[in-house]
Amino acid sequence: MQKSYRGVPVSPGFAQGVSQVYRPYAPALREVVLGPGQVADELKRFRQALHAAERELHTLHTQVKRDLGPDFADFIEVQLTLLHDEEVVKNTEAFIREALRNAEFAYSQTVKSMSEPVAKSDVPLFRERMLDIVDVSNRVMRHLLGDDSRSLLEVAPGTVVFAHDLPPSEAALLDPRRVVGLVLEAGGKTSHTAIMAKAKEIPAVMGAGMICDAVTDGLRVLVDGFRGVAIINPTKSRLHAYDDEIERRRVFRESLSALATTQPVTVDGRTIDLSANIEFIAEAKAAKRYGARGVGLFRTEYMYLAKRRQPTEEEQFLVYAEVARMFKPYPVIIRTFDLGGDKVLAGYSEANPFLGLRAIRLTLNRLDLFGDQLRAILRASAFGNVKVMFPMVSTIEELRRAKLEVERAKGVLKARGVEFDPDFEVGVMVETPSAAIMADRLARECSFLSIGSNDLTQYTLAVDRGNEHVAKLFDHLHPAVLYLIKKTIDAAHQQGIWVGMCGEFASDLLGMLVLLGMGVDEMSVSPGMIPEAKGIIRNIDGGVAAEIAAQALKLGTALEVQRLLRREMDRRFPHLAGFQFEENKGK
Ligand code: PEP
Ligand code: MG
Repeated sequence: MQKSYRGVPVSPGFAQGVSQVYRPYAPALREVVLGPGQVADELKRFRQALHAAERELHTLHTQVKRDLGPDFADFIEVQLTLLHDEEVVKNTEAFIREALRNAEFAYSQTVKSMSEPVAKSDVPLFRERMLDIVDVSNRVMRHLLGDDSRSLLEVAPGTVVFAHDLPPSEAALLDPRRVVGLVLEAGGKTSHTAIMAKAKEIPAVMGAGMICDAVTDGLRVLVDGFRGVAIINPTKSRLHAYDDEIERRRVFRESLSALATTQPVTVDGRTIDLSANIEFIAEAKAAKRYGARGVGLFRTEYMYLAKRRQPTEEEQFLVYAEVARMFKPYPVIIRTFDLGGDKVLAGYSEANPFLGLRAIRLTLNRLDLFGDQLRAILRASAFGNVKVMFPMVSTIEELRRAKLEVERAKGVLKARGVEFDPDFEVGVMVETPSAAIMADRLARECSFLSIGSNDLTQYTLAVDRGNEHVAKLFDHLHPAVLYLIKKTIDAAHQQGIWVGMCGEFASDLLGMLVLLGMGVDEMSVSPGMIPEAKGIIRNIDGGVAAEIAAQALKLGTALEVQRLLRREMDRRFPHLAGFQFEENKGK
């Protein structure tokens, strides 16, 4: 019988395949009491298992580094560090010697007692770390037990992987030539696994309830990564409908592939700077392939999260400079660390993290962190067209203080004799209502504005963007959000600076129509959306789009806006009908 499950769409695309449920490794553990004469052998066995796991992780590291880039490989490097955690090793060995127990029992008890406080933490980053700890200990345990259970690397082509959650090291192993779709019970848009799926262009749905209870291996499944739906045992008519949609999309994308080398110019001759949002170098490469004119948002905090520590100035410089070189002469806009909120620093927690020490507030509070990053960005500006922008600005003082830090960083580099772009530009992300309302005044003190509609929606509507219980209320087409977007665009133009949109609004086909009508200068979208965006830009007249946007601005509800835009889209882009046009029914 067909069954549909709704979750959060985290990686766009459709997939049809055969299910494979990935269950956490549950080793059969035996507690063995050792005689004093057996201790030395047991200690040796433990060390050998650690070394075998280490060799495996090194191979994995090389593979991931080669296929996905060094920044992705950092996820594996963290595991190598955890593998050699002195305390874990020391305590396990003490357990073997003093409690006279076998290595697997001693090791599992030690890991359990040390990881429990981490698992109970409210802080998401701590829980992510827990996944790393469990993952690395399972690897050691497999060697201790001589267990050669299959890894995700070995799944058959055409597999849709179902799991409660996936540790980052396993997610890093997902091979898009074999894994066509991913459905997780846990996770959300900001989880590492979501980021990996998106970067590998594997359609994915997360937060899909208790779906693993309903699936067994070998079932036919459909994954709709646009709408966040997984369908088990789809009916023939459902399969046909999706086949049609997939085919239409394939033909459409093929027709768009010809656009990769064309310019994003509207029918009435306006060029839109169509750029990409990236987190990792691999996405920058994909964006380039799709014909992005630069990077409109480089979410740098993932470098911090992958390393689970503050990256050094040099480490950051190497990554920023590589991306800058790749896109030269087009701009690469580096957003300073947006840590806090749901992307927290280890050991830090607060009652309302989204209203707390997040983004610019955090970096202004941690000038060591900020200074390292600003110097790395400035140094990269000598190798391409690099700009910086600050997230979550809510006061003009924040912008002024951040600009002072940019000047301070320039001073340090000058003293060191290091080059940077003398015309280096500073921009502000407009993602709080106060920034949108004060956009004219912010615009007087910076070179560009970039609207972050994800947070602007969250803060304007007072809806947590990651909370499934209020997901229905999270709608960036809400008239209040449209009003603030329009106000920001007009304010920037009145002050003579350019304005872009780097929130998901720009990756939404309906949103694109509104933005073009409001006169936005730049749209930064997820790399996979670049062909569609170009198709829309090249086929719309600015005047027509302006009329549609003006009508949308007069409406009273998000649903009315959605219906209007949908009608216009269906009329003007019939070949796109059905893509991303679900009404917002929440989760
Ligand atoms: C946004 O808030 O719209 C944005 C682009 O930033 P992020 O999604 O990284 O918070
Ligand atoms: Mg944001």
